[in-house]
Amino acid sequence: MKNESFFEYPMQKRRKHLMLALGTIVATGFIVTTFASYFVSKISLRDEILHNELPLTSDNIYSEIQRDLLQPIFISSLMASDTFLRDWIIAGEDDESQVIRYLKEIKERYQTVTTFFVSENTKIYYQAQGILKSVSQGDPRDAWYFRLREIPLDYEINVDPDMANMDAMTIFINYKVYDYGGSYIGATGVGMTVSAVKSLINEYQNAYDRTIYFVDQGGNVILSGSGFPGDIKNLSHVQGLDALAPEILSNSENFLHYRKSGASFLLNTRYIPEFQWYLIVEQPEARALKKIVATLLINLGLCTLITAAVLFLTHITLTAYQTRLEQMATLDKLTMIYNRQAFSILFRELLKDVHRRFIPFSVVMIDLDYFKVINDTLGHIAGDAVLKHCVAVIRKELRDSDILCRWGGEEFVVVLKECRLDNAFNLAEKIRKTLGDTPCPWPGGDIPFTASLGVTQWNLLDDRDENSILSRADKALYMAKEGGRNITIIRP
Ligand code: GH3
Ligand code: MG
Ligand code: MG
Repeated sequence: MKNESFFEYPMQKRRKHLMLALGTIVATGFIVTTFASYFVSKISLRDEILHNELPLTSDNIYSEIQRDLLQPIFISSLMASDTFLRDWIIAGEDDESQVIRYLKEIKERYQTVTTFFVSENTKIYYQAQGILKSVSQGDPRDAWYFRLREIPLDYEINVDPDMANMDAMTIFINYKVYDYGGSYIGATGVGMTVSAVKSLINEYQNAYDRTIYFVDQGGNVILSGSGFPGDIKNLSHVQGLDALAPEILSNSENFLHYRKSGASFLLNTRYIPEFQWYLIVEQPEARALKKIVATLLINLGLCTLITAAVLFLTHITLTAYQTRLEQMATLDKLTMIYNRQAFSILFRELLKDVHRRFIPFSVVMIDLDYFKVINDTLGHIAGDAVLKHCVAVIRKELRDSDILCRWGGEEFVVVLKECRLDNAFNLAEKIRKTLGDTPCPWPGGDIPFTASLGVTQWNLLDDRDENSILSRADKALYMAKEGGRNITIIRP
């Protein structure tokens, strides 16, 4: 039997549409839920980082820097209000060894890096080792002193290289000193290295891929961990952050995100009133997203697999049903050869071929003789067995390309492709003899039977459709019956 689809066009097209619709529905469903859950996770992750993780880091840094700095602020404040210091200045700064001893005493007692006093009157810079220098308005290193005089607050925290300490980065607490009448008479305070805060900043930076730094009210970077880009001296130098600088420098706390070089960064900023600084903790969003991006990719992979599996199963099921349906519609149930409907379809295909190649074919019509008698004497089951047996015998004589079809009750049509009348007659005769010589095996004894055959050839000039050639074959068969049965008649 030829393996071809009888319902080629409408069936295949509908099937394609069904598969497409099914694939689209399943894939869309999966993709929508996958992306929805990705975006929900992303939003809640961003929220968690902005409102919990970054503020927590900022809290820890804040309390550490408070611990580092509040004590020096306190010491500096004590020094500024110390009556000895004030009396000594008011008295005219006579014996410098007294103030040097005082500064040395404080330095040792509180383990600070440096202690200092700068006199407004003489502009002399005293520290624990002696007189360091005189401050002068033109020296940029002394700018802090002249700035301090102008600010409304009592003190200022300043990060500068310490000249007395091999220019190491030092946080100075510069406190104003007033006489008893409230007139400004100098500045005192202590300096300390920022190592503790720095190491904490570095620790957080390394552990969480965060960047932590402090800026003053002008947005100038005051203190940062290692690895902070040296060319960024102000918030306005950070790409993407420049636009947010006014917001950062005006609110006590911010939860922000911005984009830099195509990447997203999350940011927590908070104002530290004691220092008038802003602490900034930021981290790239990508690293935190890594896990959910991986989950997204895994889910998408699964979606693809499941969609493919659904489509594959549907394809297999549809193919099985289609094959079954085709068989039911085109095969005769008893003999499992083509029925009349299949014959018509195959015949039309055959005609296309014949019109292209101009090689005629022949048709043989076969009808069993006195079949009714077999049914009547041995019963229908025996009749069925004879029909099946007959098909098996005929099929043995045919080529794969020939078409065998059950035309009616005990009537068969054979189409012999590329076969002229004389060859067709020879084959029909062979079939007739074999049928007559091969009784059907049956429990009650083999059933002998014969058949009559009508043969004709497709007429390339006159024949138009199956009716003309079949009616000729039918006439030939009728003549065979008339002629006494068990014979083959040709009708050109
Ligand atoms: P003739 O030699 O003139 O062809 O005589 P016949 O008896 O073969 O012809 P007739 O047309 O009178 O009888 C055909 C019988 O075939 C009648 C019908 O009941 C029987 N028949 C048709 N289909 C089947 C079938 O599927 N199974 C069986 N067992 N019998 C069938
Ligand atoms: Mg018959
Ligand atoms: Mg008949």
